Amino acid sequence: MSLLVLGSIALDTVKTPIEERTDLLGGSASYAAIAASFFSPVNLVGIVGDDFSKENIEFFKSRDIDLGGLQVVPGKTFRWSGEYMWDMNQRETRSVELNVFENFTPDLPESYRSARMVLLGNIAPALQHHVLDQLIRPHFVIADTMDLWINIAKEELLSLIARVDMLILNDGEARELTGETSLIKAGRKIREMGPSAVAIKKGEHGCLLFGDGQFFSCPAYPLEDIHDPTGAGDCFAGGLAGYLSSRHISDADLAEKKEIPFEFLRQAVVEGSVIASFNVESFSMDRLREVTKADIAERYEIFRTLSRFEAI
Ligand code: AMP
Repeated sequence: MSLLVLGSIALDTVKTPIEERTDLLGGSASYAAIAASFFSPVNLVGIVGDDFSKENIEFFKSRDIDLGGLQVVPGKTFRWSGEYMWDMNQRETRSVELNVFENFTPDLPESYRSARMVLLGNIAPALQHHVLDQLIRPHFVIADTMDLWINIAKEELLSLIARVDMLILNDGEARELTGETSLIKAGRKIREMGPSAVAIKKGEHGCLLFGDGQFFSCPAYPLEDIHDPTGAGDCFAGGLAGYLSSRHISDADLAEKKEIPFEFLRQAVVEGSVIASFNVESFSMDRLREVTKADIAERYEIFRTLSRFEAI
């Protein structure tokens, strides 16, 4: 079963304290789709301009990513530029050029409308709604978001949150959205807004997962060298959604109204963290170009050993 991924496809300029790179393949959908493709086939929904290189298209094609939902139109691709401080957790957006994004309506190809597992990656909530409106009977819809939408499109975001099964956001956004300083209270409050599951990311400190009466605190994989944190959140969401897509319960189980077990969500959060940890080791998606499934399995095992503790 394919995972439907919506989001931005961008050409990024990224400046870190060490170096600056331009025209990098970026965007929430690009990162999420590449991350998810380690686990599941992906149907990608997005838009690019005619400046988007053949190499980038070929990169998507070289993975199990279907481009039937990718619009290529005259004009320039969405561009974003960001700068990281010495503390790589701190980032400033330097510029945003919407370009072809300005007139983007994500109309789905007929074959995408029956998607059961869906990731509405970080993009304007109105576009996330538009995709949701076209789906026939999605089973599990995950939405990712960012502080920008809490600030400029709160009503649309709140109505979106009420329609999805899982929301992913970072700690600052969870606090802003709920007005709670405690992330535990914030997670609970977001569940009351609609989603049965909530993942609150805490950057280099891991992630909190809230489910139906269940809770999981996932540490972060300890990395020595971080070269470019861009897309870590999108890779986390993509890896998580791709894993869930690969473990999706059968139509027979769905007929019996079986929910996705919390153990699957737990595992998905860990898989998403592992993929994100690889992604930040290089600029853009360069590290994910060379990582193999065996590398992922190996890091997963190391992560498991590091995180386990037993009573003496
Ligand atoms: P992350 O580091 O996970 O927050 O994601 C960074 C990616 O998000 C970059 O590759 C940007 O191109 C993309 N991005 C930045 N701002 C926006 C926006 N307003 N809408 C959609 N995508 C964005």
